[in-house]
Amino acid sequence: MPIINRISDFHPDMTEWRRALHAHPEICFEEVWTGDFIAEKLRSFGIEVSRGLGKTGVVGMLKGQGNSPRAIGLRADMDALPMPEENQFEHRSQIDGKMHACGHDGHMTMLLGAARYLAETQNFDGTVYFIFQPAEEGGAGGKAMVDDGLFEQHPIQDIWGMHNWPGLPAGDVAVNTGACMASADQFAITLTGRGSHAAMPHQAIDPILAAASLIQALQMVVSRTTDPLDPAVLSVTMLNGGSAFNVIPDTVTLGGTARAMVASTRAAMEQKIRDISALTAKAHGCLVEVDWQPGYPPTVNTETEALRAADVARAVVGSNKVHVNMPPSMVAEDFAFMLEERPGAYIWLGAGEAVEGKMLHNTGYDFNDDILPVGASYWSQLVESELPRS
Ligand SMILES: [Zn+2]
Ligand SMILES: [Zn+2]
Repeated sequence: MPIINRISDFHPDMTEWRRALHAHPEICFEEVWTGDFIAEKLRSFGIEVSRGLGKTGVVGMLKGQGNSPRAIGLRADMDALPMPEENQFEHRSQIDGKMHACGHDGHMTMLLGAARYLAETQNFDGTVYFIFQPAEEGGAGGKAMVDDGLFEQHPIQDIWGMHNWPGLPAGDVAVNTGACMASADQFAITLTGRGSHAAMPHQAIDPILAAASLIQALQMVVSRTTDPLDPAVLSVTMLNGGSAFNVIPDTVTLGGTARAMVASTRAAMEQKIRDISALTAKAHGCLVEVDWQPGYPPTVNTETEALRAADVARAVVGSNKVHVNMPPSMVAEDFAFMLEERPGAYIWLGAGEAVEGKMLHNTGYDFNDDILPVGASYWSQLVESELPRS
């Protein structure tokens, strides 16, 4: 079954919604206009709406025909990015310094399109929850919804996500049967020595030299202590210290990110970074403080659900357009927090060639409206397949 005809019928409506959302970008837990827009649309389709999970989250609930207790959740992210938009088309951002540069406007629209179709047809048995989640871009809105009781308040048994992907042909689908994105933790390490005149280093405890040693030593975390077949990244991305050519400073701070695909590797990396920091500082006579900020966990699809997602995608877009187990990416995604609670799968939906390199998070990016019916059809077909009528 290809794109659902009825969904093609409201492609013009979806395009209009998508562009309205694009013109009104809201960031990290500020998605109030966006939440109003979604809630109004869901209610107009006859779907029950609850708001406030994860501050600005919106959840729509729709029962199908029959009495099955089975329930699934479909999730779209709502937030934009704090960056300027350089596009000049009519639906460009109306809010200075904010932009839907990751396509979450399209994600919301595809889920709204599916909601409208499913409310019209109700050709399923069970309950579907349409989950609109705030603050994906660094705010851990997915965790906020889980912490606020998403899975206690709603008997959701498995959970499904989707992201558009420029560079993958438009309408193609990619899905992995295990980890598809990495964890992303941040660290800041402060080395404290003793400042002095640069001409008299023997009177100092030099934190600059200690920082140089530490950056070198940290390279062994990935290269020497993790399995070469187990992806991990450690990047030192910030180095701050010193204020004059002839002064050895008291302190230096370095910071960066550590990423892994497997929870145990993630934990081992943290411990190794702490150990190496402590021992390197000691060798230099410095004091050290490691400020560890846990971020998103790895995004891990459960195999059964990933294979079912691939089957549904094949039914919608054709077998030759579905790619299973593409190389995973070391970026991170807070849908991971939902996948820690329930089985499920997160797919990439191809957005087509990135025009002039305008990928996600580029000031010239725009969601490809051509794929709106593909995503909405995938969602609808997934519901009919996961919640079949007996
Ligand atoms: Zn993004
Ligand atoms: Zn995104």
